[in-house]
Amino acid sequence: MLYLGCHLSASAGNLAMVRTAATIDANTFAFFTRNPRGSRAKPQDPADCAAAMEEIHRLGFGPLVAHGSYTMNLCTADPGAREFAAQVLAEDLQRMAALPGQYYNFHPGSHVGQGVDAAVEQISNALKAAMALDYPVTVLLETMAGKGSEVGGRFEELKAIIDAVGREDLGVCLDTCHVYDAGYDIVNDLDSVLEEFDRIVGIHRLKALHLNDSKNPFASHKDRHECIGAGSLGLSTFEAIINHPALQGKPMILETPNELPGYASEIRTLRSLYRQ
Ligand code: FE
Ligand code: FE
Ligand code: ZN
Repeated sequence: MLYLGCHLSASAGNLAMVRTAATIDANTFAFFTRNPRGSRAKPQDPADCAAAMEEIHRLGFGPLVAHGSYTMNLCTADPGAREFAAQVLAEDLQRMAALPGQYYNFHPGSHVGQGVDAAVEQISNALKAAMALDYPVTVLLETMAGKGSEVGGRFEELKAIIDAVGREDLGVCLDTCHVYDAGYDIVNDLDSVLEEFDRIVGIHRLKALHLNDSKNPFASHKDRHECIGAGSLGLSTFEAIINHPALQGKPMILETPNELPGYASEIRTLRSLYRQ
């Protein structure tokens, strides 16, 4: 099954997102759990959450991939700000309990000069605390481009966090733009990159993908998304990804610079390239 979707605005609620997704032939989607550039979260409407869950089951959607706020940095240097970020994470996981069984993806953070080891410890401590209440959500670390002091540009860094947390419900969301930017050549050797992921992290931890082309060449550590087929990855890379045996059944989310019609067209193109 090809679970394809895109990032949608949460402003009209969860049920509205399911309906919007259905209009563009999507069968999963992503949304921000709160203001992506701030930390404000709207109060949840339990009736809307329940109606959305009923609708995604009726329509046979794959798991949704919620996205944490960009400003939530679990490994920032200031202890007060770090504690605030950890609280935001805990609250996000609690909110995800209203949409049971879905995924929550976030950027591991930027260590801002503290070094990767300190960051891994800070991120995993926040995750251990937030996940201790066993909310019905699978938490995903996003693979990063390695811009500035970003943590998660190497598979080894994600593995270190996963080991320190020691839970089965912690996985990875692979962002195609980010991994290529980070120096994993999914254009010329997708198989080797996935084998490396399997060797280091374990392919069973790979739960979802972000499908983005890149405005920049290989290993440039810049993180600028491009529309599918218009960047340095190219359409054939995405054809290989959606058809790869190791990636079947995983929700794939477009975060390309598009409005709804652009997403609809990318979903149409990708579905036409799917062979199973
Ligand atoms: Fe992201
Ligand atoms: Fe992403
Ligand atoms: Zn990005």
